[in-house]
Amino acid sequence: MMIARTRGELRELTGSGDGIAFVPTMGALHEGHLSLVRAAAEVGGPIVLSIFVNPLQFGSTEDLASYPRDEDRDLSLAGAAGVDVAFVPAAEEIYPSGGSVTVDAGPLGRILEGAARPGHFHGVATVVAKLFNLVRPRYAFFGQKDAQQVAVVRGMVRDLLFQTEIVVGPIVRDVDGLALSSRNAYLTEEGRRRALALWSSLRAGEKAWRAGGSPQEAETAMHEVLAVAEGVEPDYAVAVDPDSFVAPPEGTDEVLLLVAARVGTTRLIDNLQVTRDRD
Ligand code: AMP
Repeated sequence: MMIARTRGELRELTGSGDGIAFVPTMGALHEGHLSLVRAAAEVGGPIVLSIFVNPLQFGSTEDLASYPRDEDRDLSLAGAAGVDVAFVPAAEEIYPSGGSVTVDAGPLGRILEGAARPGHFHGVATVVAKLFNLVRPRYAFFGQKDAQQVAVVRGMVRDLLFQTEIVVGPIVRDVDGLALSSRNAYLTEEGRRRALALWSSLRAGEKAWRAGGSPQEAETAMHEVLAVAEGVEPDYAVAVDPDSFVAPPEGTDEVLLLVAARVGTTRLIDNLQVTRDRD
């Protein structure tokens, strides 16, 4: 595996770069990231993985400084998974002028996760646009774990006419259901146990939805689980339309259950898309 730290090195290593498969990450790699690398391997072209903790997507009170970083470990995992080029830029490479021209993520960027983390999706859209311009990927791989991020990136690709095809990988979970996340590294043993409430609330929402409940009833079922979970502070628990992220249309069979909660000082998100059979 080759390592590019500057835009120039990236250009040299990717050359005319036909059919590049790109996996953007913030590092602290885990099986979720590696599943995207394996999906990227299936399209056959060179695989570029970026590791960049993007300051613009962190709020001033968030965990930018403490975000887990372990470059040596990440590079060895990426190399073993089959990445051809790791792009590991410093912030000055991505924001050479400080960065006053940015990408607005649109209305979808201001609800739910965007409301809880003002400016977050503006940072995401901006960095993804920059990385797409540098890597010029044919395909880019994102995890369903960050469902709203996928929708924001898809919207950006559609509206700004990017030529990259977005491919979405399923959520990778631990055996007990906890969604893998770099932020799980912050959890104590007890915190990790408490964090399972997010998965339990999604399962409760799923059960209510499959039993014929309304979106509101699914949300109530999710909230009931979170309300009795010790040390878990929910931000939101909702049942939305999987495309628009607003209230599902009357009569729909498909909802996306979304949950965000703080476990101690660690903020976690998870989601589950559920389709019920018509009877
Ligand atoms: P991050 O490093 O957290 O920015 O994540 C990089 C990419 O990996 C994003 O597209 C995430 O959605 C994806 N990802 C993170 N966790 C998981 C997971 N548990 N399963 C699948 N994809 C994931």
